[in-house]
Amino acid sequence: MPAPHKIKASLDEYVIGQEYAKKVMSVAVYNHYKRVATDTMDEIEIEKSNMLMIGPTGCGKTYLVKTLARLLDVPLAIADATSLTEAGYIGDDIESVVSKLLAAADNDVEKAEHGIIFIDEIDKIAKKKNTNQRDVSGEAVQQGMLKLLEGSEVEVPVGANSKNAMVPLTTVNTRNILFICGGAFPDLENIIKERLNKQASIGFYADLKDKYDDDPHILEKVTVDDIRAFGMIPEFIGRLPIVFTLDGLSEDMLVKILQEPKNAILKQYQKLLALDEVKLEFEEGALHAIAAKAMEKKTGARALRAILEQYMLDIMYEIPKDDSIGEVIITREYIEGTGGPRILLRGQEIPLLGSAQ
Ligand code: ADP
Repeated sequence: MPAPHKIKASLDEYVIGQEYAKKVMSVAVYNHYKRVATDTMDEIEIEKSNMLMIGPTGCGKTYLVKTLARLLDVPLAIADATSLTEAGYIGDDIESVVSKLLAAADNDVEKAEHGIIFIDEIDKIAKKKNTNQRDVSGEAVQQGMLKLLEGSEVEVPVGANSKNAMVPLTTVNTRNILFICGGAFPDLENIIKERLNKQASIGFYADLKDKYDDDPHILEKVTVDDIRAFGMIPEFIGRLPIVFTLDGLSEDMLVKILQEPKNAILKQYQKLLALDEVKLEFEEGALHAIAAKAMEKKTGARALRAILEQYMLDIMYEIPKDDSIGEVIITREYIEGTGGPRILLRGQEIPLLGSAQ
């Protein structure tokens, strides 16, 4: 198992920003696999490093977990908390996440038992505060997950998604499976603010009572009590001892995401065109224009690929028509719809394509 700083350095190659999250995860994963390796059951039992990650949509939660699993070469199963139901209801029962992991491990039980299960949208199984709505399953699903998170033997079908008479069952122990839960927890900020403002309004500093209203780092101040107030039950939170937050992505971070990660989208397009011996460049202004469009969508980095694809379609369509084209420069004007990309022929420069519209 590589040391935490090495794990983080590898994550840095793929994930932009999120320094705190990368650090916490590196240490947690390191400790987790140390615990697995020593497997001592003496009086000092090392606690499981299950994690709860809180951050807005598209900020890299799933991506971090995927990257981590790949770096560590362990199987990974990703499930959506909203699809999970108590046994006996329509939907996937909770233990199906273990089946998924077994499948990801090519039905190798031992490998699966050292894998990672990521459960996304965990905030969606919060207890409903307003009881006019029927609480279909939230709290019950949390209850149902407790044993799994802690460690229990689960009978799962081999090579199939559901238990039925025809498929053989095998037993998987979840004791050493690392569980990572993630969610956007909308409104958690208000819960934190309310608590902080209440604290601030007591006593001498009462006049500062609204000082947290515009704090961009409010989420980092989250406590277990806030998460409980949001609707996660104490036993559930107790089994996710490592809680951390991720930052929303700024325009500058989105620009970096476009070009810096090892498998950055721009690098992929550049490689594709290089195969046709065409050089692809992006003006700095074009990158910011793409990032600005992505910001408007409020889905974090998720929007980047779709936006870029829309502009690259014409390029990828037109360029192979003409052997004489040597270089394409994507301009801000092209992204903003007021001009075209610059096309350089092998040797000289002429404007070619019109604007995207
Ligand atoms: P979520 O936080 O909702 O789980 P994802 O991890 O699925 O978001 O992010 C969507 C995509 O955006 C990822 O597949 C990745 O390509 C990109 N992405 C998001 N955040 C980052 C980041 N911090 N660094 C690099 N790429 C990122």
